Amino acid sequence: MCFRPGGVAKAQVCPNCGKKLIPIGGVFQKKCPFCKTDFTAMIEAAKKEESERLAAEAAKKAEGAQPGDEKKPE
Ligand SMILES: [Zn+2]
Repeated sequence: MCFRPGGVAKAQVCPNCGKKLIPIGGVFQKKCPFCKTDFTAMIEAAKKEESERLAAEAAKKAEGAQPGDEKKPE
């Protein structure tokens, strides 16, 4: 079983200065307010990864939900 804290936004850490940034309303900040590093590319990459993971999971579920035996027309 995996434990997931509900409703808690993940802390965002700036890869440049290492400061912790608080996502506003669950949305990551696009720029570090401390060192002005642009996170846009980073956020897009993370989003892509997440959507790919979700798509793979959904595909797996769809596969598992379908019965293996196909009915052949006679
Ligand atoms: Zn920074």
